[in-house]
Amino acid sequence: MSVTTPRTLDEAVRLFSANPHATLLAGGTDLMVEINLHGRRPDAVVSLARIAELGTWSIDDDRVVIGSGVPYATMESGPLAVALPALAEAARTVGSPQIRAAGTLGGNLGTCSPAGDGLPVLAALDATIDLIGAGGERSVPFADFMVGVKRNSAQPGEIIRSVTIPRRDGWQGYAKVGTRNAMVIATASMCLHRSSSRIAVAMGAVGPTIIRAREAERWFVDQGGLNDIVSPDIMDGFAERVAEASRPIDDHRSTAAYRRHAVRVLARRLLERSYR
Ligand SMILES: Cc1cc2nc3c(=O)[nH]c(=O)nc-3n(C[C@H](O)[C@H](O)[C@H](O)COP(=O)(O)OP(=O)(O)OC[C@H]3O[C@@H](n4cnc5c(N)ncnc54)[C@H](O)[C@@H]3O)c2cc1C
Repeated sequence: MSVTTPRTLDEAVRLFSANPHATLLAGGTDLMVEINLHGRRPDAVVSLARIAELGTWSIDDDRVVIGSGVPYATMESGPLAVALPALAEAARTVGSPQIRAAGTLGGNLGTCSPAGDGLPVLAALDATIDLIGAGGERSVPFADFMVGVKRNSAQPGEIIRSVTIPRRDGWQGYAKVGTRNAMVIATASMCLHRSSSRIAVAMGAVGPTIIRAREAERWFVDQGGLNDIVSPDIMDGFAERVAEASRPIDDHRSTAAYRRHAVRVLARRLLERSYR
């Protein structure tokens, strides 16, 4: 197995486009599990860990750009947490401090597990994924990026450079249900954003991709839900419709029935929190 450690993004693009079957390595918190426990044996690895540009982020009036190599530890607190509270909440739920120091948003997107904690936030806030390859750069809306369980629409030779997230006023939050309170992969997860002009809800681990409950969002707006006061009946109706949009399965982590129940509870709780 060859391992190359480019120092610039240009060099990484050159190396990866010359060998699009190489495996990219960022924090290694998913990839090393694949190698050490699941027998994955990549012929060639291109490490992105020494590319300074991928570890940078910026906050403008209308958007936040986070380099794919920024670790969760940087999102948990500080300016990124102020600009994107839901992402901070999601980051705080990821693994342990060690995992959050190494694991990156780029790696979460590269793996594209429906249980990835960063992903419902990107879906609810309408993030775009910025890709770079030998053919140039392009940005893909999150909804078109994740195309299935652990599948994304990056082309061979493309590297996730950054994630661009529109800044939004109003309230945003993230919550997750698992078999314990820490060091746990989600059984169900959810991000909700509510402002005077918009509600968006995205859920993880209850379908092959992250699911936006668009029908529930529309229903809530039609019921006058964006007003300052909303009745418990509308909150319950919203939660019910979000649960209906989930597509959970039975697996080793949970049953479909429990997941649907968890989604209903998460939707109700997050919506209620958004009015406090
Ligand atoms: C003990 C433990 C606990 C965990 N807990 C959680 C949890 O609670 N929530 C959660 O969501 N995840 C969890 N994870 C999984 C993992 O930490 C995250 O998915 C993390 O975001 C992966 O990032 P990484 O930088 O380590 O990725 P890596 O392991 O380096 O890479 C993961 C995949 O993404 C690809 N990749 C990496 N960077 C790029 C890029 N820039 N462009 C294109 N492809 C890229 C790689 O080729 C690889 O296929 C846990 C893992 C462990 C080991």
